[in-house]
Amino acid sequence: MNAPSSIGRTSDIAGHVIRSVVARDEPEQSFTHSLTDLARALPTPEAMAEKNALLRAVVTTPDFHPGKPVPVGVVADVEGAVLPHMIGSDIGCGMRMVVLDNVAAEQLATPLLDRHLRHIFFQGGRDIALTGMDRHAILREGLPGLLGSLQQKSIGLLSKLDLSRAWADLERHSDNGVFACENVDADFADYAGIDDAHRRDAILGTIGGGNHFVELGFIDHIADGTFARAAGLKPGSVVLVVHSGSLDFGQRVGTVTGDRLKSDCKPGEDWRVLSRETQPDLYKRYMNGHANAVNAAFANRFFIGLAAIEAVARALGQEVEHHLVYDAPHNTVWESGNVVRHRKGACPARGVGTLAASPYEWFGEPVILPGSMGDGTWLLAGCGSTDFLESAAHGAGRKLSRQEARSQRDIANALRVIGPVDPQSPSLQGRQDILAEIHARLKEEAPAAYKPIDSVAEPMVDAGMVTKVAKITPLVTVKG
Ligand code: 5GP
Ligand code: MN
Ligand code: MN
Repeated sequence: MNAPSSIGRTSDIAGHVIRSVVARDEPEQSFTHSLTDLARALPTPEAMAEKNALLRAVVTTPDFHPGKPVPVGVVADVEGAVLPHMIGSDIGCGMRMVVLDNVAAEQLATPLLDRHLRHIFFQGGRDIALTGMDRHAILREGLPGLLGSLQQKSIGLLSKLDLSRAWADLERHSDNGVFACENVDADFADYAGIDDAHRRDAILGTIGGGNHFVELGFIDHIADGTFARAAGLKPGSVVLVVHSGSLDFGQRVGTVTGDRLKSDCKPGEDWRVLSRETQPDLYKRYMNGHANAVNAAFANRFFIGLAAIEAVARALGQEVEHHLVYDAPHNTVWESGNVVRHRKGACPARGVGTLAASPYEWFGEPVILPGSMGDGTWLLAGCGSTDFLESAAHGAGRKLSRQEARSQRDIANALRVIGPVDPQSPSLQGRQDILAEIHARLKEEAPAAYKPIDSVAEPMVDAGMVTKVAKITPLVTVKG
């Protein structure tokens, strides 16, 4: 059932009809500014027609904010073509939510946890040894491929892997943790490292910089008990949220394709439109590389989750039981018939009956909506609203640019944030330059730099995009 869309707002700008759900208290000026940027980034109807393509619908989500080369928080349905610039450079970037079943929030207060998280993520404590076969399986067959390739391993972090748990969790991934593709693109084979040695690898399992994070918190409010039960959540449950992507892999797929497109182009042609009919080989190649990247990102979040759980286990001196709530990408295209749905910083929010063979089939797709390290994260349930292209926001979205955020006066000192560099480290005492830079980076990511999470969540509920399930309060955040 689709809710009425009276809350949505429709703009007709530069020949493009764009439907939006806007954050509460969003300044009109910043919304209009981003909308103008978006309209400029969309190919003209003529440019599309020239390649037998059509832009069918464009939607913005309430976390809409400036981005390069296209604003963030956009969904676009395109017939007959893919627009690589409309999904952002971190192909496959997404969120993963895991419940730690036998850990209580109070246990996370130990400073040992900070030490183990830093060691695991930034000081070489994360030992993931993959063979070339494993890497190949990841890129071509996503998480199911990885699990099949791993079988049982007794090396480093992989010795901690509960394979039957991991298999059971697969149905709690968007698209079951795999985007179909034919092969591993030859241009990316070196990343796949096709050799037989167990390489102790520092790439997969890396958080990455900027907004990417690992956060531990607890459920402080449940709005939908039935959904929460299907997700295995209770009041007080300790929850891990992972935000990361395909690292530089997706970027490479985008730039390699972009370079080929530019050189392929006739004068006057819009190189950003990659037509299925008139450029079939390049189209296929992009979709294949894109799937490789989305699969790499699934695996990256899988390993980050494993590493974070290992840090908790080491800090608490106990085995940690866990299960997945959901994992979904938000910078990705989904092909369905002749239509390609592009999401740039937007979550799939499919409705009841669309996720066959999943515990959420009769509830709607879980939507993970992180706010900031102060604001925490909402778990929402997708309503499958066709007006909003079965999508929802993927975060609160920036309110201040990084530059603006750096000049804020105060930031909440109460935040427990772990970064690559420990400001308490004796070697940094007296190094005011480095300490000031660490502080400035923290300001870029401080809660005041983001829209309040409820101002993003509530308009989506009103618009019939999602319903509320549970709210998570953060306790400790790791930033790459
Ligand atoms: P993006 O995918 O566009 O890089 O950002 C995703 C969203 O994550 C942002 O819009 C922001 O609301 C949220 N976010 C960024 N940093 C943090 C953090 O440290 N903790 C939480 N809970 N959310 C964050
Ligand atoms: Mn990303
Ligand atoms: Mn992201």
